[in-house]
Amino acid sequence: MVTPPAGTAPRDPAKAWHSRTVEETWADLGSGWDGLSVGEAEKRLVENGPNQLREAQPVRPIHILLRQLKGLLVWVLLAAGTVSFLLGELLDGGAIVAILILNAVIGFYQEFQAETSIAALKRLTSPRARVWRGGKVTLVPASAVVAGDLLDLEAGDLVAADARVVKAASLKCVESALTGESDAVGKQTEAILGIDPPLGDRTNLIFMGTSVAAGTGRAVVVATGMGTELGRIATLLEKAGEDEGTPLQKRLAGVGRVLVWATLGIVGLLFALGYWRGTAPIELFMTSVSLAVAAVPEGLPAVVTVALALGVSRMSRRAALVRRLPAVETLGSTTVICTDKTGTLTVGEMTVRRLQVAGQPYEVTGEGYGPGGEILLDGRSVSAVPDSVTELALGLVASANAHLEQKKGVWRVIGDPTEGALLALGLKAGWSQERVEREFPKVDEIPFDSDRKRSTVIRRLPSGVRRAFTNGAPDQILPLCTHLYTAEGVRPLTEKDRQALLAENASLAGQALRVLGSARRDLGPDFQGPVSAETVERELVFVGLTGMYDPPRPEGKEAVAKCRAAGIRVIMITGDHPQTALAIARELGIATEETACTGTELDGLSEEDLKRRVLRTHVYARVSAEHKLRIVRAWKSHGAVVAMTGDGVNDAPAIKGADIGIAMGRTGTEVTKQASDMVITDDNFATIVAAVEEGRGIYDNIQKTLQYLLAGNTAEILLMAVCVVVGSPAPLLPIHLLWINLVTDGLPALCLATDPIDPDVMRHPPRRSTARMMDGRFLGTMMFTGFLTAGVSLGVFFAVLKTGDLALARTQAFTVLVFSELLRSFGTRDKRKPLWRISWLSNLPLLLVVALSLGLQFLSLHNRMFGGFLKSATVPLAESLPLLALGAIPLLTLELVKIFRNGGVSRAT
Ligand code: ADP
Ligand code: MG
Repeated sequence: MVTPPAGTAPRDPAKAWHSRTVEETWADLGSGWDGLSVGEAEKRLVENGPNQLREAQPVRPIHILLRQLKGLLVWVLLAAGTVSFLLGELLDGGAIVAILILNAVIGFYQEFQAETSIAALKRLTSPRARVWRGGKVTLVPASAVVAGDLLDLEAGDLVAADARVVKAASLKCVESALTGESDAVGKQTEAILGIDPPLGDRTNLIFMGTSVAAGTGRAVVVATGMGTELGRIATLLEKAGEDEGTPLQKRLAGVGRVLVWATLGIVGLLFALGYWRGTAPIELFMTSVSLAVAAVPEGLPAVVTVALALGVSRMSRRAALVRRLPAVETLGSTTVICTDKTGTLTVGEMTVRRLQVAGQPYEVTGEGYGPGGEILLDGRSVSAVPDSVTELALGLVASANAHLEQKKGVWRVIGDPTEGALLALGLKAGWSQERVEREFPKVDEIPFDSDRKRSTVIRRLPSGVRRAFTNGAPDQILPLCTHLYTAEGVRPLTEKDRQALLAENASLAGQALRVLGSARRDLGPDFQGPVSAETVERELVFVGLTGMYDPPRPEGKEAVAKCRAAGIRVIMITGDHPQTALAIARELGIATEETACTGTELDGLSEEDLKRRVLRTHVYARVSAEHKLRIVRAWKSHGAVVAMTGDGVNDAPAIKGADIGIAMGRTGTEVTKQASDMVITDDNFATIVAAVEEGRGIYDNIQKTLQYLLAGNTAEILLMAVCVVVGSPAPLLPIHLLWINLVTDGLPALCLATDPIDPDVMRHPPRRSTARMMDGRFLGTMMFTGFLTAGVSLGVFFAVLKTGDLALARTQAFTVLVFSELLRSFGTRDKRKPLWRISWLSNLPLLLVVALSLGLQFLSLHNRMFGGFLKSATVPLAESLPLLALGAIPLLTLELVKIFRNGGVSRAT
């Protein structure tokens, strides 16, 4: 039987939803202005399936297990095991099989963990939708949206399903994903009758996969999942990509392939040479196979995956959700962070502190969003709230879309904090939101957007007159005003008034206050025109100024200082007044300049001028989204690696244009989140810095793990090669090579890949983004270490071999090699700091693994059975301790080189 596709088709596919009236639509879908009840929505979800285009592929453990058996070397090893069994070498065969199984189990475990943490992360960042359920707006995963759900829409939302618009205020959608049309399409609620219009003309429908560009509205879902218009063309969306691996993973896979062939080449040569010298072919075969298995770094891509995945889940615990794995690599090389101010560098909790109305300055007291607090004039509490203040407060409350909520005695804002502050002021001045809604019902609105920097709400007064309340940045509002509200009544606004108000605005802004100008206009009966910014926001009466304070985040200063030490430049980009921006920037230590660069100034700059200007600018104010993109481009032309934050719809291009696009988890829109590389769930600047730190740490971990593994492999190959060339017996037996590969290299490597991040990573300048992980210095260290380790081991081998005891010579050479590798893992943890400056306890697993391996090695020298397994001769403890000392030689030499390279102990800090 064919399973039906996920999601619902319209109940009656022939039904043309655009031709139905709102009432008919409600009736068809069994829904209404309260939305579905929670129970009904759940029922429909079970009946009709999730709102998804295709079944998302869950991680299947069996696939991961099979992947472990895919490598060429696994098969070579299996063949070798079989040969051993056939020859009656049961011990060798058994050892090979045991090691094969262990390898698969460890590999499976690592990759399974990596996959699940990445899958969990994907779920965290998948799109959501706001729907009305039982009369309340609730946030649900987009996949849980069902037919009949009432969607709540505002600019920046992704449309979660196909829906019929039932309410629209300047609602506009971008439908390029479906129609190819890049201009936003206006939406309305009337039924469209007559012949079937093409998709782009069904202006009362909105479609899954498109986004809301402006305005607000509501729409009732008519189709979900594969039943949507997008579902019909879903094949178009089957974009591969995403999962192809990060640039580093790809590059390492390439390096891995080269190394496989190089190793096989060398092994082949050694085989030929040995054969020519007359070594028994079977013995040669076994040695060659083991050498190949030991030397080929087949684990490289896996190490990267594990380090990335673990790093990414650690970042998610620090509130940074990575949406694209490659971003982790880029993060570490960030040189410039462009950040929003409000809510990111500041706490994002506003309180109104100052009012300026009818020529009088007022102070407002009280913290938080509650009604507690007073309105003061000249430092004294006013006995009754003056009319002018009541007037101003009404305009402010009238325009707010946010809500206040009291929970456990604490007042909180749901929605924009700026509006929350206005509502709290309203409570102090006698206007509750309920009262305003009741006495002055809302007729229409032109929502706030940070490019216009103002909003307008139209309400009906008890007299029947419609009044428009416009609030926003004073410098944007004043040019629209022709009159001024005063204690004596409304009079024409003079040029002198205008200058005085602008000066007052600048003075409030200079005190780090965010300032709002309020204005209003009564729309007479002759006002018939459509409601738009052009028709309504003109000939306004200016009422007053409101200054609110949003303190800088306490941890912000430290985070900025950290960036400075790390050679990262912090840049503030805000829509606020230049003085407000500068005041906050100075408090945080971001800016030293006297003036901020404004959007107007940016408009006058050519790309060339801007390229020079960015170098000496830390604060941009009164900018709009398009300026952000220009700033990103200018910095990129300097070769900078730019991280850029954003929350509004219009920020998506800048976020995409940046090397690291960062979306705000709380205030950010869905569109911005989906365009981003990373979402920070607490909107906190310090989190960005923490993410950069993690990014650097992860890169370092991958690099040191590679160094450790490759240097070890080099040593093994050299050791074996030299002996074949000089014609001595092989210093290591197959079981030795396999043991080193799995235990003495494999386990410490894992611990290195997950090494805790060195607290000093943010004290170095960023690595160049073009720098290769395996650069000259890396390869130099690798070869040097390889020669050194092989040299010590060979020395021991030949010295003992002179006594004629081959078994003992092998045992001692093997033991010294193992000791060297184990001890060296400590030094590899940091390529700059000498050993004694690295905290031993910070990587307990490594300490444990090394201690355990050392113990096993000693055991093999004494215990017959285990010694037999490792084919070791017995060595008394007194004689094995010097081997440990010899094993320390590579570590100590490398430490000396480290100190020497860093120019002495004093500068090595
Ligand atoms: P940012 O987020 O960078 O601080 P915005 O673009 O949000 O800046 O705000 C720019 C200006 O718009 C503010 O200085 C303020 O005057 C005005 N403003 C901000 N929020 C609102 C709002 N909800 N309603 C009306 N005006 C607002
Ligand atoms: Mg804002």
